[in-house]
Amino acid sequence: MHIGIIGTGYVGLVTGACFAEFGLFVTCTDKDEEKIRSLKKGVIPFYEPGLDELIRRNIKQGRLNFTTQIKKAVESSLVLFIAVGTPRRGDGSANLKYVEEVAREIAENINDYKLIVTKSTVPVGTGEKLREIISKNLKEQIDFDIVSNPEFLREGAAIEDFMRPNRVVIGAKSQQAIAIMKDLYKPLYLIETPFVITNIETAELIKYASNSFLATKISFINEIANLCERVGADVHMVAKGMGLDQRIGPKFLHPGPGYGGSCLPKDTNALFKIAEDHDVYLGIIDAVIKTNEKQREVMIKKIKDAIGVLKGKTITILGLSFKPNTDDIREAPSVYIIQRLLKEKAHIRAYDPVSMGEAYKILPGIKYCKNAYDAAKGADAIVIMTEWNQFRNLDLDRIKRQLKGPYFFDLRNIYEPQKVKEKGFKYFCVGRT
Ligand code: NAD
Repeated sequence: MHIGIIGTGYVGLVTGACFAEFGLFVTCTDKDEEKIRSLKKGVIPFYEPGLDELIRRNIKQGRLNFTTQIKKAVESSLVLFIAVGTPRRGDGSANLKYVEEVAREIAENINDYKLIVTKSTVPVGTGEKLREIISKNLKEQIDFDIVSNPEFLREGAAIEDFMRPNRVVIGAKSQQAIAIMKDLYKPLYLIETPFVITNIETAELIKYASNSFLATKISFINEIANLCERVGADVHMVAKGMGLDQRIGPKFLHPGPGYGGSCLPKDTNALFKIAEDHDVYLGIIDAVIKTNEKQREVMIKKIKDAIGVLKGKTITILGLSFKPNTDDIREAPSVYIIQRLLKEKAHIRAYDPVSMGEAYKILPGIKYCKNAYDAAKGADAIVIMTEWNQFRNLDLDRIKRQLKGPYFFDLRNIYEPQKVKEKGFKYFCVGRT
């Protein structure tokens, strides 16, 4: 079977590469010429463990190709996945301009029956909207189906998540569409992955509800962490005690500087707006969003309360990406915190194993360093922002020698407080006194 992926960003590229690995013939298209030129040479535009190897192998075996011409992808494919971005608008809603642009382009180039699948995270009702846009722009009467197939992969573990997902969600109206989708995902069917087959609106909502629930767990444990600091409790033990209850589960109960990334902030805001547009007030989601914004300020306060005036102080930031194993800094807490520190006239020395190139695009005025020790040189304080494995076992004596001041802010709780204090640091973490 031939399929086309429209929008070869993070999700589109992983989807295309993984379907090619399943044995399908995949044409990935993007309007970014530079991106497509690099991909044709096997150069991946972002960091994702294992993806370069997967792409090179499938290019070599002739199952994966790249083009800027959407016409080629539309004409050669039975199934078209829309995987373009749905960024946040000023009012919190998802901006559908790229998705709608693609729908018009599909309609202009359609030559035969197509199954048009939204992989992008889109508000409830988008499937119907796409049906209208495509029908209105068709040059001749050609049959097509719309499917919602939201993506749940995690950056940093994207291939594993695509190849072994917890579930595949398919929202469709027609039996033919469902049958084609099942055929596409046959390798997952064979390993007994649960399939949730439903209508388009429900599938669209499952994605937002899932991400918002994950965000809720994070904001919840962050609030509990802040309380722990006041009452002398240890948030890790609270999370453990809670998480052992199977109705709660241990995942996403790790306190920190708040959630970030390209999905949770955008999707919580979009869900809130979707509901508002339908005259429904989502009080929990409202609180989750506000708690997350507040949590970043709680971190700033933690730093200021310890160091005092920030003006003229040098602060080392270890980790810039919103989580480890990715170079994605979209809505990363590090970006917000660095901007706030800069506003208070602090100097920043930063190090991240892979995301300094991305960070430089939006934070050109900070000093990027060779490694963690270089970043610590002459600084008043060190702040661990991202829990990369290489920061878990730093040579603390060496860090201490490099630093000018004694402050160690472990915003991901990756160190044993006692161990760090014994080295002569003033140690601060989240939710552990
Ligand atoms: P991205 O910004 O990395 O990629 C989007 C790509 O679409 C870009 O390369 C852009 O050039 C391309 N594009 C835009 N308009 C186009 C057009 N008209 N024709 C062809 N290409 C076009 O975005 P992403 O992170 O891959 O996210 C895509 C969607 O998937 C979003 O809706 C997002 O919410 C959702 N999603 C993302 C993740 C994630 O972890 N990144 C996970 C699940 C779902």
